Amino acid sequence: MSRNLLVTGGAGFIGSNFVHHWCKSYPNDRVVVLDALTYAGNRGNLAALEKEENFRFVKGDICDRTLIDKLLQTENIDIIAHFAAESHVDRSIIGPGAFVQTNVVGTFTLLEAFRQHWQTNEKPLNYRFLHVSTDEVYGSLAPNDPAFCETTPYAPNSPYSASKAGSDHLVRAYYHTYGLPTIITNCSNNYGYYQFPEKLIPLMCINILMGKPLPVYGDGKNVRDWLYVADHCSAIEVVIQRGTPGETYNIGGNNEVENINLVQMLCQLMDELAPDLPVRPSQNLITFVKDRLGHDRRYAINSNKLQTELEWTPSVTVEEGLRLTVEWYLAHRHWWEPLLSEEYQTYYHKNYLQS
Ligand code: NAD
Repeated sequence: MSRNLLVTGGAGFIGSNFVHHWCKSYPNDRVVVLDALTYAGNRGNLAALEKEENFRFVKGDICDRTLIDKLLQTENIDIIAHFAAESHVDRSIIGPGAFVQTNVVGTFTLLEAFRQHWQTNEKPLNYRFLHVSTDEVYGSLAPNDPAFCETTPYAPNSPYSASKAGSDHLVRAYYHTYGLPTIITNCSNNYGYYQFPEKLIPLMCINILMGKPLPVYGDGKNVRDWLYVADHCSAIEVVIQRGTPGETYNIGGNNEVENINLVQMLCQLMDELAPDLPVRPSQNLITFVKDRLGHDRRYAINSNKLQTELEWTPSVTVEEGLRLTVEWYLAHRHWWEPLLSEEYQTYYHKNYLQS
């Protein structure tokens, strides 16, 4: 039986990878993307799908209840895959208001609209609300702490993670209060194709190509787990297909790496794969900068529940995924160059060059 999906934030990094993944895996399903096209949204990520009959792009805000009601009804939506968010921690420190609006109020608006839609249609068993969230809601780990699992208490430290935590709590409450078939996924740092240049991996690749300093926060020893975006998409697919409503699933890549080591890996890959670099070895560009405010020291994620209950496993190592990613950024200069706009330069200057 074919299904109708509403994918919020489907023009962003993970959302667009997911839309491509889903449309390829389930060509009979209809996919409607709702995206406000903020600075992080790029309709071009979906260009290859625009002519497909089963695909529709709608520019709009997840806080717009009237629009969402209309889409749920006219498109007969069964599944919401909710990616739309303000997603960058550094921007949440500079301006937290947009994070509360989109991440909390936007998620609430979607939940309310979906609840009404589900009740009006007499609570179909196949309806799902899949909420994509982050491991950052769990706070920061000490070096020897066990990895986050689904029962780890929430302790968000940034305006971004606090706004995501708020949205997670609402999603959870809608299952417990109303029985709305919601599922939450909390994943680690993603990387791969179509990631906006402000995020660590594309930022480093692009700065290396331009011979610009590579800003590394603090002592560079903050640890993150890295998840290749295609593996994240396959995990979300199995959660939609086989996950249990009311449950949370952690998704991780099993790749804990210190930031400085990750940057060094990228420098080596770029030295190997990119001809004509302005500075070689590119490690010479590494510059330690004032630490991010409230910078979490370590994130690590235990995805045993997803692996054992839903039989998901990541398909690539961090070395393989980074190579694929660097190759993509080298071959897609035409994709990222226009994104280095005046707005981006203003943000970059504020974040890294003003203390
Ligand atoms: P992104 O910033 O690349 O994309 C977000 C998308 O949402 C953009 O297309 C943007 O236009 C859209 N959007 C923003 N506000 C909107 C609004 N009010 N209405 C409609 N659309 C709006 O983000 P991403 O990295 O793809 O992250 C997707 C989701 O995954 C987010 O919920 C994020 O919290 C979560 N997540 C991301 C990571 C990561 O490493 N990138 C890790 C864990 C969780």
